[in-house]
Parts: sequence; C-alpha cells; structure tokens
Amino acid sequence: SATDGIPDPALVVLVGASGSGKSTWAASRFRASEIVSSDALRAVVGSGEHDLDASADAFDLLDRIVAGRARRRLSVVVDTLGLDPTMRRAWLALARETGLAAVVVRLTAPERVVRQRNRERDRSVPAAVLTRQLRSARRAMAEIDAEGWDLVVDVVHEPEALPRERAPRPV
Ligand code: ATP
Ligand code: MG
Repeated sequence: SATDGIPDPALVVLVGASGSGKSTWAASRFRASEIVSSDALRAVVGSGEHDLDASADAFDLLDRIVAGRARRRLSVVVDTLGLDPTMRRAWLALARETGLAAVVVRLTAPERVVRQRNRERDRSVPAAVLTRQLRSARRAMAEIDAEGWDLVVDVVHEPEALPRERAPRPV
C-alpha cells in the first residue's frame, strides 16, 4: 500500500512471537489467497491449528504453496512465527530466484501486551513457551537487518487498546 511501500508482487515473511499480531496484520493488508499460514495448514492435514504433530506435513505443504505462487510471480505472505533463520534464508533465496521483492514484516508489541493477548485467546501458548518465543524474536529482529532483504517493515502495536496496569494504591 501507499503507507508501507510493499511492492506487488512480493514474497513477504512475517516475523513475531505468538500473539504479536501477524495474522491480524496480514488479513488487514492482503487477500486470503495470498496468505499461507502454518496454523491453517496444520488444521488441513491435522486435527486443528494447534496440532503440533502435524507440523512437518504442514510446513511441507507451506513450502510447496509458497514456491508455486512465487514461480507464478504472485504475491505470497508466509504466516509462520518466522523465527528460524534457516527457513528465512530459504524464502529469501526463493524470492531471488523468482524475481519477487523479498520483504520481512517484523511485528512487535510490548511483552505485557503479547502476554495479555495470549492469555485471552482460546488456546493460549504456555507461558514458558511464550518466554522462549519472545527471546527468539528479539534475536531474530536483530539478525534480519544483516540478511539482505529488499525491505524490512516494522509494525509496532500500540498498547492503548488495553487497560493500563495501575500502581497499587498506598494504604
Ligand atoms: P500466532 O503466532 O499465535 O498465530 P499472531 O501473531 O498471528 O499469533 P494474531 O492472531 O494476529 O497474532 O493476534 C493475537 C491476538 O491479538 C488476537 O486476539 C488479535 O485480535 C489481537 N490483536 C492483533 N493485532 C492487534 C492490534 N493491532 N490491536 C489490538 N489487538 C490486536
Ligand atoms: Mg497467527
């Protein structure tokens, strides 16, 4: 769009912890057919979006769909955590091979916002898993600058939609 400067076609890799707002952002910006989601594909080949036993099959499908769209020079948004540098490198190479703009969208929100959103969801990620994801996300955000993407877009979620944490009142 005019605001984020993402070309069309582009191979867009979302990066952010669970609850950082990746799928929400993608849905607001791209058509459903342009978004390839590992969660959605787990539900296709497994028992639901959180069927981790279906991950290998889901990622196998995801890679084939992303490659199929990229070879046709159609925009594609990779909706996974995006935290694995080896996977990011492969998607960047695919964008180079197919001539698509190689774009990363980094989604960040304050940790308390991510944790609160996670708690409010139907199937929340265990707190310890989220802690590891948040640490891994901080590392990924730093690494991405040196990876050679054509464009890195930062989407920072404002916490004003959530009630502020108040200091305890003095007694
Ligand atoms: P996952 O990795 O688990 O798929 P995600 O990064 O795709 O997580 P979303 O599903 O997009 O995250 O968002 C998580 C929750 O946060 C949802 O309940 C969503 O409604 C809320 N949310 C996302 N973006 C915003 C926003 N900009 N403002 C307020 N709430 C938001
Ligand atoms: Mg999502």
